[in-house]
Amino acid sequence: MAFNVKGGGGPKGAATHVSHDGAKEYFRQAMEYVTKSEAAKTVYDTLQKLGTDIPVEVVHDDNMFYAHAHAGGGYIHWDPLSALKVTEGGWQSPAVGLIHEMYHAYQEFCLKDIYPNMPQKLISLGPSGGGKNPVSKEEVDTVVFEAKVCKQLGKLGHENETARTTYFYVLGSVNVTSPTSTGKA
Ligand SMILES: [Zn+2]
Repeated sequence: MAFNVKGGGGPKGAATHVSHDGAKEYFRQAMEYVTKSEAAKTVYDTLQKLGTDIPVEVVHDDNMFYAHAHAGGGYIHWDPLSALKVTEGGWQSPAVGLIHEMYHAYQEFCLKDIYPNMPQKLISLGPSGGGKNPVSKEEVDTVVFEAKVCKQLGKLGHENETARTTYFYVLGSVNVTSPTSTGKA
């Protein structure tokens, strides 16, 4: 088992708090859903076979990221009830957010060729921050992967999963009631 899922967010009763059992259940629901996408399943299965444990800290703080192992991290941070608004009227579920972060771990642990070239391997300037934000190949590739997952889920009837139109640009997020909800309905 490569994923070590744990709750967090301070003491019971805090708005950010998620219990350990709650965290594991959110994670289970998210992975059961998102691995209906073949691309997502391949990444998840490959990571699960790793000898390395990847902690997943689950907190209601509207934040998601992968902290690189080479920089002292090696863990995923995930809010299971925060959906990402990516276009006017288009959303991604927290489950898609989780597989996005897992893909970063997959890049670091499995597609090692990317890392020796970072951070020099910048391929474009992003549209956010007045066109001044450099977009790494790492992020570009992850957004391409994420779009594939959305497309595959869409073919299975989850047409509400929306691919981004640009690499960094997002319109915001919204709290939802389950890891598979897009916040649209
Ligand atoms: Zn990313």
